[in-house]
Amino acid sequence: MKPAPFAYARARSLDHAIELLGSRDAAGGDARVLAGGQSLIATLNMRLSHPALLVDINSIEGLDRIVLKDGQVEIGALTRHAEAERSNQIARHAPLIALAMPHIGHPAIRNRGTLGGSIAFADPAAELPACLLALDGEVEIAGPTGRRTVKADDFFKSLFETALTPRDVLTAIRVPAAGASTRCGFAEFARRHGDYAMAGLAACAQADGRGLNNVRLAYFGVGPTPMRAPYAEAALAHGDIEAAVAALADDLDPPDDVQATGAVKRHLAGVLLRRVGRQLLEARPS
Ligand SMILES: Cc1cc2nc3c(=O)[nH]c(=O)nc-3n(C[C@H](O)[C@H](O)[C@H](O)COP(=O)(O)OP(=O)(O)OC[C@H]3O[C@@H](n4cnc5c(N)ncnc54)[C@H](O)[C@@H]3O)c2cc1C
Repeated sequence: MKPAPFAYARARSLDHAIELLGSRDAAGGDARVLAGGQSLIATLNMRLSHPALLVDINSIEGLDRIVLKDGQVEIGALTRHAEAERSNQIARHAPLIALAMPHIGHPAIRNRGTLGGSIAFADPAAELPACLLALDGEVEIAGPTGRRTVKADDFFKSLFETALTPRDVLTAIRVPAAGASTRCGFAEFARRHGDYAMAGLAACAQADGRGLNNVRLAYFGVGPTPMRAPYAEAALAHGDIEAAVAALADDLDPPDDVQATGAVKRHLAGVLLRRVGRQLLEARPS
């Protein structure tokens, strides 16, 4: 299929992008941000969305930086997946994101797709939203009323629904820089490498003697948003992986989808937790 007709505008600056996003055509059609286009263009071609105007943000300067400041790693929205994959800063200070990157699509998609696009699109089976949640990260947003910061816990609202309004531009994400006691783990099941996951798990914790503190488990592909698993987190903090797997029954109730039944996903969630739990616990000091 071909997309419905749309207009195109290249934003010169963040302010210009926000102004363009507020414009509407005569029929009242809306405008949409265009970043890497790897998800948006597919939805246009399938006519799942039909915006009147695409606002291309690729020429806005300063949105593709990766910087370490104030104990946080800030990753600009226009950072391509491939740049993040190759980044020494991310490998060193945000190792969970480095673990997840090779699982996102294929090299051609990673060359063009952006971190900001992935977070804004908020596909429930995507890796990066779950990493952001596991890392207790935050999202920087610019909109008509100025800038604001939204914690990952509050950003993912529902299926493909986030705290972004139609006139907002996501400008960066920030995650706490990993310290000596930071542990992270990542695993996913996909039918083929590079496909969206049937189920996946991103996790972060702080090693504390023989246990773990501040365990954050973020599942993807098992609900409408990335999902925390608080009962399993509490059990894992005591180092008991099997108790954590049992606790998942109270944490998750995955619906059936085109990839697998809810029962299969529930089973996979346990298998993933055994793998990721070992990654978190085996690295702790004895
Ligand atoms: C075959 C295929 C396989 C894929 N497999 C995976 C996978 O396994 N895992 C995975 O996570 N992803 C996968 N993707 C998606 C890929 O990661 C996309 O790059 C990503 O989801 C969207 O990033 P983008 O920059 O291309 O955004 P776009 O496609 O340009 O935009 C996506 C949406 O986000 C909005 N948006 C984009 N940037 C901003 C911004 N800065 N502020 C506000 N709104 C914004 C757009 O308006 C649009 O609604 C796959 C894509 C394809 C085509």
